[in-house]
Amino acid sequence: MALSFKMPEFLIKRQVETCSKCLLCVKQCANKVHYYDEKNDSFLTADENCVGCHRCAVICPTRSIYILKYPLEFRRNAYWTEETIKQIYKQAESGGILLAGTGTDRDYPIYWDKILINASQVTNPSIDPLREPMELKTFLGRRPKAITVEGKEIKEEIPPKLELEVPIMFAAMSFGAISLNAVKSLAKAAQKKGTYYNTGEGGLHRDLYQYGSNTTVQVASGRFGVHPDYLNAGAAIEIKIGQGAKPGIGGHLPGEKVGEEVSKTRMIPLGSDAISPAPHHDIYSIEDLRQLIFSLKEATDYKKPVGVKIAAVHNIAAIASGIARAGADFIVIDGFRGGTGAAPQRTRDNVGIPIELALAAVDSRLRDESIRNEVSLVVSGGIRNSADVIKAIALGADAVYIGTAALIALGCHMCQKCYTGKCNWGIATQDPQLTKRLDPEIGAQRAANLIKAWKHEIKDMLGGMGINAIESLRGNRLMLRGIGLTDTELKILGIKAAGE
Ligand code: SF4
Ligand code: SF4
Repeated sequence: MALSFKMPEFLIKRQVETCSKCLLCVKQCANKVHYYDEKNDSFLTADENCVGCHRCAVICPTRSIYILKYPLEFRRNAYWTEETIKQIYKQAESGGILLAGTGTDRDYPIYWDKILINASQVTNPSIDPLREPMELKTFLGRRPKAITVEGKEIKEEIPPKLELEVPIMFAAMSFGAISLNAVKSLAKAAQKKGTYYNTGEGGLHRDLYQYGSNTTVQVASGRFGVHPDYLNAGAAIEIKIGQGAKPGIGGHLPGEKVGEEVSKTRMIPLGSDAISPAPHHDIYSIEDLRQLIFSLKEATDYKKPVGVKIAAVHNIAAIASGIARAGADFIVIDGFRGGTGAAPQRTRDNVGIPIELALAAVDSRLRDESIRNEVSLVVSGGIRNSADVIKAIALGADAVYIGTAALIALGCHMCQKCYTGKCNWGIATQDPQLTKRLDPEIGAQRAANLIKAWKHEIKDMLGGMGINAIESLRGNRLMLRGIGLTDTELKILGIKAAGE
């Protein structure tokens, strides 16, 4: 056998003095890193199998496991980096494309961290959210251009809306890409916190119908699990055209992940690969998209808002304008840091644009065309904390989706190996031995706690700005200042530099 040049990424160290030999690490590692040699009463580790998911270190009752970066020093080279060299070794051995899970980890500028939030001082005094009411309720959907009120009646028909207690929803993650327990955790958390989770393109498992009023059902290019009951079960429908992690390409759920439940839910044969084509084969123009939007509205008796999700790409503002005119009730823009279960790494790391710039460009364009109020904007792709939420709303978003942050709340340790199906945290896997590690009740509590904590922080920051309703922050870019940004970046973001 030819010598492999691949070396381990991590080095496992075990404190033999404190290890109680409970064997939990041996039993729980799906990557077969730990072995116990009964004959010699000693442990062995296969460092090359370690993906850095931290499961063993976290469950070890005596904190006896350390996971370190493998000490293999490459000569410093700013161009032929260690990562580049290792990727070439990998491809020279496999002849295959590089796959990766989650969003890009490349060192691109993080615009959220170059934007600062305002606070009131002296005039327009700040508000104490503990003592005064603070409104975070958000409605998503089209608004009429004008309304006529007669007595207490609004004369115009108000299009259907999603009502959120907090402007944060759980992003589309399909049953198949993630476990049923992970989807259940998000569904329950959405119900607890008055918000929505999203089925992704995986259909709706029968256990999830009870969360219908907190569900957005997705219609993607593969049309997996799409039927009239599915469309009518959710509170909203989202047509997925693209996603930030892999703009312009489709999806592939390997047959090994298509067990009985996934196969029933997606309406595909057991063990068959679920391949979503890159385009919708019935959409080649805005007119075609309009037809699908209205077919879905028709199928649901015009009672559900229908949105369209696209990846943030170069001409995003013009594309969004077309989608608004095609009749979408909300547009979801997914930035290039958006996560996924599996993406070709080159696409994930090189295609698309940052959500901050895409959002500002879209909001400005829709305002310039006087159609901003006719459609809601939801952004996703790397929202990490409540400050990112505040900044997104001030840049023009109505609400945000969180995906990776929600999975981290459930226990994800960002090993980026979701595509292997061996997620030791029971999230990105269909292996029954692994999925049972995630208790949906505990998962729901953790995800709900995250939303609760962010809600408190959002109220604090709003109060600090002297604003008592999230609606008043929407598109209020005067509340933002840029730091360390070029004139062009400031212009696209539509904000002034700090100090101005
Ligand atoms: S989990 Fe910790 S205590 Fe148990 S065998 Fe492994 S290293 Fe030892
Ligand atoms: S979901 Fe699981 S496999 Fe994916 S990055 Fe998180 S811990 Fe790793």
